[in-house]
Amino acid sequence: MTAPWDVVVVGARVAGASTALLLARAGLRVLCLDRARHGSDTLSTHALMRPGTLLLRQWGLLDPIVEAGTPAVRRTVFHYGDETVSVTIRPAAGVDALYAPRRTVIDRVIADAAAEAGAVVRFGTAVTGLLRDGDGRVTGVTTRARDGSADAERAALVVGADGRRSAVADWVRAPVRAAGHASSAVLYGYWSGLAADGYEWFYRPGVSAGLIPTNDGLTCVFLGTDPATMDRLVRGGGTGAALDRLAAECGVGARLAAGRRADAVRHVRGVPGRLRRAWGPGWALAGDAGQWKDPLSTHGMTDALRDAELLARAVVAAPGPGRRQRDALAGYERARDRFARPLLDASERVAGYGWDLPGVRRLLMDLSAVMADEVDLISSLPAAPWNAPALARPA
Ligand SMILES: Cc1cc2nc3c(=O)[nH]c(=O)nc-3n(C[C@H](O)[C@H](O)[C@H](O)COP(=O)(O)OP(=O)(O)OC[C@H]3O[C@@H](n4cnc5c(N)ncnc54)[C@H](O)[C@@H]3O)c2cc1C
Repeated sequence: MTAPWDVVVVGARVAGASTALLLARAGLRVLCLDRARHGSDTLSTHALMRPGTLLLRQWGLLDPIVEAGTPAVRRTVFHYGDETVSVTIRPAAGVDALYAPRRTVIDRVIADAAAEAGAVVRFGTAVTGLLRDGDGRVTGVTTRARDGSADAERAALVVGADGRRSAVADWVRAPVRAAGHASSAVLYGYWSGLAADGYEWFYRPGVSAGLIPTNDGLTCVFLGTDPATMDRLVRGGGTGAALDRLAAECGVGARLAAGRRADAVRHVRGVPGRLRRAWGPGWALAGDAGQWKDPLSTHGMTDALRDAELLARAVVAAPGPGRRQRDALAGYERARDRFARPLLDASERVAGYGWDLPGVRRLLMDLSAVMADEVDLISSLPAAPWNAPALARPA
């Protein structure tokens, strides 16, 4: 019997809503479920890298993000101790600026575009389990709505885009292909009246910081260190005192004092990176569900967008069960891991704080080289049915 949905996507943020959008634009019947509210916020410091910005542009979603007042970032400034290196964003592959949209902006823009493309996007619905056939193949999900009502949805494929604590990945027991050990602890919040010269990253031995211009005239500020040091600082004087101390150590104290903190500072304890198998019978993983990296990489959203592009290509090539689908999904995993493994490795070493200043500079150059490869790959992909018409490339 044919399942009512070609694909059920669990999670409707950068990975899930993007996957739903692309598959719906390709004509598949897509249901996208999220237990959160439409347009809600989530943990993030927002910085998109060039490959992610390029994909949003190709999908025709950069304009609504810019129209929502997201400022263009035309420069990245690295502060290595007292040395400053400024890199202008070079126009290439149709991208002449980067963006750091609030999650209330980017997640909503993508989810709304998915719905407009014909996907059914349902918020306030938690996925509570998986359906399977007699061979163990995943054939759908069970759900619970806000009013407590339970239901089931059958699909040819279930995509887990449900974040770093992915229940889908746990339910299918997705094997862990690589696991990190290091994690950074981060304080972050929003400042007004703090002019940042594009993305600004600060590194001093044992500490890091970032200034990221985002919507509503605000600058997102993060300060990171290893979890043990953060715990000691927070226990000693609370997040305010920890923030002052880390800001002084990173050399951003005066910059923060010149602006005004717009809301509470949040403390996020790090979780070590993890790369999981990306697919199995009737299931696939996208975004943090399949690959979590320390946020110091500022690459998680870009990964999620790239996963959506590569996974959608695999699903469209072979939407039904069988050998062709297995090959296509295995190809998705290989393409993902070509970037995910070196990114995980470099992020792990940045988050370990075992570097000196020349060392962190080399690690950031490694990250940058992987991103250049990503841009090359994305630019060379054949035209897809989901590209904005004016941007579609010849097949
Ligand atoms: C402090 C911090 C700073 C960061 N800064 C950056 C940055 O500057 N740049 C960057 O690119 N990345 C950054 N990241 C990483 C980025 O936030 C993630 O990589 C990104 O959110 C991954 O998107 P996703 O769609 O895979 O998962 P998520 O954004 O986690 O979305 C998963 C969705 O699944 C839903 N869900 C989960 N379980 C269920 C269920 N059972 N049923 C229904 N729905 C479910 C959740 O409600 C959620 O909406 C940061 C992360 C942190 C913690």
